[in-house]
Amino acid sequence: MPQTTALTNIAALVTNDPAQGDGSPLGIIENAALVVEGDQVAWVGPTEKAPPADTAHDAGGRAAVPGFVDSHSHLLYAGDRTQEFNARMSGRPYTAGGIRTTVQATREASDEALAATLDAHLREMYAQGTTTVETKSGYGLSPEHEARALRVAALSGVDEVTYLGAHVVPPEYAHDADAYTALVAGPMLRECAPHARWVDVFCEEGAFDEDQCRTILTAGREAGLIPRVHANQLSYGPGIRLAVELDAASADHCTHLTDEDVDALAHSGTVATLLPGCEFSTRAVYPDARRLLDAGVTVALSTDCNPGSSYTSSMPFCLAIAVREMNMTPDEALWAATAGGARALRRTDVGRLTPGCRADVALLDAPSHVHLSYRPGVPLVSEVWRRGIRVA
Ligand SMILES: [Zn+2]
Repeated sequence: MPQTTALTNIAALVTNDPAQGDGSPLGIIENAALVVEGDQVAWVGPTEKAPPADTAHDAGGRAAVPGFVDSHSHLLYAGDRTQEFNARMSGRPYTAGGIRTTVQATREASDEALAATLDAHLREMYAQGTTTVETKSGYGLSPEHEARALRVAALSGVDEVTYLGAHVVPPEYAHDADAYTALVAGPMLRECAPHARWVDVFCEEGAFDEDQCRTILTAGREAGLIPRVHANQLSYGPGIRLAVELDAASADHCTHLTDEDVDALAHSGTVATLLPGCEFSTRAVYPDARRLLDAGVTVALSTDCNPGSSYTSSMPFCLAIAVREMNMTPDEALWAATAGGARALRRTDVGRLTPGCRADVALLDAPSHVHLSYRPGVPLVSEVWRRGIRVA
């Protein structure tokens, strides 16, 4: 029998199971306990009813939430973009071309350097309460370099790995994007598919157009990968409708929305993943979360952690922006950062704290999860359990 640990004296435990506690979507149990068995949750409920466990751990009246599910990041990179950020904050606009700077540095980096950068970011994320991480290739842009990045990811603690050969057209194909598309959908895909679960494209003017994206995503699907799409970030476009057409797990960014886009998402299984760290870091207009939620769209929040347009690894920070700037309620933002992220990754074992789920818990130095947005920038995450092990 695996060891059991009881976390007791939790002021308010967010389970994300409406059948628990207060019956809200967050399923909050007050004066709660949570029993961990091995790497899973074995029991949740009121402290006084907790079953006996091998060891007990007093949460000291803190709140507990499911570990955050960061379903969109770009951590397989090398190099530094400080100058670009500094320039942008001094008045020059962001364009997709900035990615190429990182591509050159990434191609030149050793496997060890890539792995070390990834590992450092994962530790940073865990310390801030994130327990499930997706990350993407997309800074190699050749069969050799894309597959290498995905192998590095597969050997790390990353939960979900995405093939993003279609991040930007590399300089050597600058005048023949269709030839590069054929490479991404052909030989590069064959090298990369064994190391990834997802296929992603950057559907945007200056990156890949609708036909190119459809070609790549369809080929990816035939190779056993599930589509997700960088959609409607910098301008209106076909990205969201393409994501829905191909039953993508997620359309990410969703900053420029038509009524048709909102309607398509609302009648689909595709999650709208909002990445407010990106708009924050580029002084851009935030996506209209309220419009999506009111239309019945499933919304996720993620960091988009990457060295170019959103260099934050903090889910609490993104959650606070979503509440303050995007008119999400504190409850909606927490749900989107946990259960919503899990939906965007088609996972049922994370993003909630119910028996059988992964024991991924963040304890907050606060009596309620509302403090995550009420006290922005304050390091409230004081203890993190991932797969039943204390990682921070
Ligand atoms: Zn991205």
